[in-house]
Amino acid sequence: MPAPSLKIGSIGVRRAATTLLDFALPPRCIGCGERVDRNGLACAKCWSSLTFIAPPLCISCGAPFEFETGDGRKCPACYAAPPAYDRARAAVLYDEHSRGLILGFKHGDRLHAAPAFASWTARAGAELLQEADIVMPVPLHRWRLLRRRYNQAALIAAGVARIAGVMHLPDLLERHRATPSQGTMSATGRARNVAGAFRLNPRHADRVKGSRIVVVDDVLTSGATVSACARVLRRGGAAGVDVLTLARVVLD
Ligand SMILES: [Zn+2]
Ligand SMILES: [Zn+2]
Repeated sequence: MPAPSLKIGSIGVRRAATTLLDFALPPRCIGCGERVDRNGLACAKCWSSLTFIAPPLCISCGAPFEFETGDGRKCPACYAAPPAYDRARAAVLYDEHSRGLILGFKHGDRLHAAPAFASWTARAGAELLQEADIVMPVPLHRWRLLRRRYNQAALIAAGVARIAGVMHLPDLLERHRATPSQGTMSATGRARNVAGAFRLNPRHADRVKGSRIVVVDDVLTSGATVSACARVLRRGGAAGVDVLTLARVVLD
């Protein structure tokens, strides 16, 4: 794996990296904790267990196709119901190999994976980022943010924005309604759960008009959360909304 070339910028990412340096020397794999050459790397075993998503893909939701289909194809789901966002891309498949890595990051014991995750995500979204004016994370409600102390999506978004040289606005959207965790909900339940949960931060409303915005999250599941964000951004006058996640679920 090439070393993540992320220059650490945001306070959150810097804190994550410092935490690692404080107690995890010598360098350990971001997945299993085996010794590795440098901080922020995955060992060969963890690295090769991950499925990196590559073309051919649905041009809209980014779901990988099993066979080469020619350029510009959409998957049946996107034909049946076009998503609220323009395009979604993700770095790795959310499966039994990536799950532990991502949950560890989400729940705070593997924050030092942020630079690696950001560099994988930025690579997967290179095409989207080229056209982007603003990168922003899916926001957490302030109560959850207080409890968890950091927003894992914002750690990835900060790194992605830095790598791509795009403005990062972590508070562009606000989550003004606390929503129950979506872990066990159906797609319809998820959509209902997040409907009306987000609003534009009035301080940044002017920046949204005419901008292409990339919304960053850790995992794309049903797409309900990012779709709710996309609808608010479009109503605010965004010229385009793309979605970039570290991982995505692929349904058979
Ligand atoms: Zn490992
Ligand atoms: Zn699709």
